[in-house]
Amino acid sequence: MSNQKLDTPVQYIKGVGPKLAQVFAKLGVITVEDLLYLVPRDFEDRRNIKPIAQVRPSEFEVVKGEIMDVDVQQTRNRFSIIKVYLNDKTATLQAVWFNQPYLSKLFRPGMKLIVSGKVEISSYDHILQLQVKDFEVDTGDNLPIVPKYPLTQGLYPKKLRAVIKTVMDDYLKYVADKKSRTALQVLHFPTDPAKTGPARDYLAFEELLTFQLGLLLQRKRYKEELKGRKFEIKEEYLEEFKKALSFTFTGAQERVMNDIYDDFRSGRPMNRLLQGDVGSGKTVVAALAAFIAVKNGCQAAILAPTEILAQQHYVKLSALFKKLDCRVDLLTATTSSAKKREELKDQDVVIGTHALLEKKIKFRDLGLAIIDEQHRFGVHQRLALVKKGFSPHVIVMTATPIPRSLALTLYGDLDRSIIDELPPGRTPVKTYYVPSARRADANEFIRLKIKEGRQVFVVCPLVEESSELDLKAAKEEADRLQKYIFPELKVGLIHGRLKGDEKDKIMKDFADKKIDILVSTTVIEVGIDVPNATVMVVEHAERFGLSQLHQLRGRIGRGSEQSFCFLVGDAKTDDAKERLKAMVATNDGFKISEVDLKLRGPGDLFGARQSGLPNFRVADIIRDEKIIQEARRAAEALVEKDAEGARNRWESQGEKFKDPQKRFEASALN
Ligand code: ADP
Ligand code: MG
Repeated sequence: MSNQKLDTPVQYIKGVGPKLAQVFAKLGVITVEDLLYLVPRDFEDRRNIKPIAQVRPSEFEVVKGEIMDVDVQQTRNRFSIIKVYLNDKTATLQAVWFNQPYLSKLFRPGMKLIVSGKVEISSYDHILQLQVKDFEVDTGDNLPIVPKYPLTQGLYPKKLRAVIKTVMDDYLKYVADKKSRTALQVLHFPTDPAKTGPARDYLAFEELLTFQLGLLLQRKRYKEELKGRKFEIKEEYLEEFKKALSFTFTGAQERVMNDIYDDFRSGRPMNRLLQGDVGSGKTVVAALAAFIAVKNGCQAAILAPTEILAQQHYVKLSALFKKLDCRVDLLTATTSSAKKREELKDQDVVIGTHALLEKKIKFRDLGLAIIDEQHRFGVHQRLALVKKGFSPHVIVMTATPIPRSLALTLYGDLDRSIIDELPPGRTPVKTYYVPSARRADANEFIRLKIKEGRQVFVVCPLVEESSELDLKAAKEEADRLQKYIFPELKVGLIHGRLKGDEKDKIMKDFADKKIDILVSTTVIEVGIDVPNATVMVVEHAERFGLSQLHQLRGRIGRGSEQSFCFLVGDAKTDDAKERLKAMVATNDGFKISEVDLKLRGPGDLFGARQSGLPNFRVADIIRDEKIIQEARRAAEALVEKDAEGARNRWESQGEKFKDPQKRFEASALN
């Protein structure tokens, strides 16, 4: 339960004030309650402190001893070093503080200190040196186990511990749940390390439970309160559509369509996440759903994240829909104004980019909104499209096969369908890591494959959307390949700066085999579909993110011929090595995204705020996979049994998951 006392902004706590409140805001701590729930990430056990004689270099250590001597040094560029010699009767060690001159006034010989930090052999004095991270005066009654809090610039461990003590003394009593009070006590003033794990897990569970309640209540609203359009699904529609296709649906595609039919018939608006690896065939599923909407008298919209992808959908789908007597239109930022319509009356299916979201764009009757590559859009953009219809059905599609726990968090209010099967006849891509020094070997291989009639992608990194340097690199690479390596072949270049029709022309030439080797910046990342291209060379592969590499590789291996991917580069960092290793080891997007998640963390992977990743105080999306699933089950049971109670809990606590910056601004207004 929320309690007014607990909502007190931190600046009113004794010893905090407005300045420190801003520092706290960076940690997501706005209120007293946030501070209570700012739980330690780790603990330093001081019950058995090592004798200094046993301390070894290159470890993080805690030692205590008596100050023998204090030495303050000032370097020429006003850099200060304090060296304190600590002795514990077994040996002496030098503790050092950098640039904290005011501390020198505190230290006196004979005083006892507890210090912790990394130990090294000083290159200057050649003795054991501990670079102090944290210290306290040893008063004999110090905490036996010291909590380690997340810190930020301008907030020192000792200060934070003092503030937490004040808050625990004055406010813990207002926390309604007794078990939570106990858990907070155990975490902030630990006496037994064995108890801290369960205490943290309890708080994480409570937090995740509340969050899941919010998602499930939202979902319940869709399922039980909102009215949606009922679509009829006549056998003849399906037959007509399938006759127009050159292939038959995979089992997985059929299963997903059945989920969609159920939603269409339910009389409630569909809200479905359609997950499927690159190349699994999501587009055609979207097309059939759109066709059914059209047959029921509505319009359908497909929102794509890039111009190229929108164009490609348009080309593919207009060929298909022509056979079905549906009118398809394309609306992007570069659609010429003569062609551009704001009132979409006659169109049945409209494909577009962000341009589709503009206020002035109006549909006759939008019955189905499809969002492709959902992770590229924010929640607000999804809503902007949905609002253009009267509670339309919604399908969001993603090729990022996120782990279940994360899906429950990010998309827990959506129903989920997965295409877990690739169309038949695909051979898994073979992937190789090629150190730059051996790059020439790949050229010979390329020549061979082109002789066999295949085509090749060469991808150059594009770090920023508009970076001149990257563009230059891609141009130079295309020139170099054309002039010196493959003079007998046709080398093309495509990049993000080209106009829509220029890009179109190049893609068409490539599809028509007028270009053998297409050099590109990462603009080909999504959507391009040329099955005859069976070789991909990625230059400076170490600079690409893992999911980006996976998306890129999805451009080959689209036909029945064996495809090959060469990751050229020099992986210097551990992360880069990990990424390339994962790419060579597997084609499974699921495994790749798990590695990616571990390497980068969820915020980075999904653009935390934009995609609506909640702001958890205790829970950790990666670490708490099990707890997330338990919380989900518990939340389902609670919503079922006591929807009223669930709603009360969500309404009193849901605020906390919002963007801390916004909460801070709101609290400043009060
Ligand atoms: P993605 O899921 O990455 O969006 P696409 O929808 O672009 O995948 O499909 C990839 C390719 O597979 C396209 O060329 C599409 O026409 C083809 N495809 C889709 N479904 C099937 C199927 N059931 N059988 C054969 N080919 C298919
Ligand atoms: Mg796609």
